[in-house]
Amino acid sequence: MDTATARKRLEEMRGELDKSILVLQGEQPAERIGSDSPQDPADAGTNLSENDRTQAVLAAAKVQLSAVRDALQRIEGGTYGTCADCGSSIPDGRLDARPEAARCVKCQAKRDRGR
Ligand SMILES: [Zn+2]
Repeated sequence: MDTATARKRLEEMRGELDKSILVLQGEQPAERIGSDSPQDPADAGTNLSENDRTQAVLAAAKVQLSAVRDALQRIEGGTYGTCADCGSSIPDGRLDARPEAARCVKCQAKRDRGR
């Protein structure tokens, strides 16, 4: 995929992620104090698990945001579309599905296993 298209998609993703992170951070109870919409005390029992879920989604969004930022940096540096580990070019189909991908499928699988 050409870098102009990739950049556009990545910038859109970054915008969306920025927005969801702001929304998710706003959903944390600590941020709620003094807000206009106090929680119904009856919901208090569900808050903890709900907050855990929000934290998990938030963490995932932050990881993806940093991947998107890295990808935009690779576009600037002219290395976009090249596997960060083995240096071979990442297939268009993969970049189309995941424009933020930094590695070819093989190297990513190796890396995921190593975790
Ligand atoms: Zn590779």
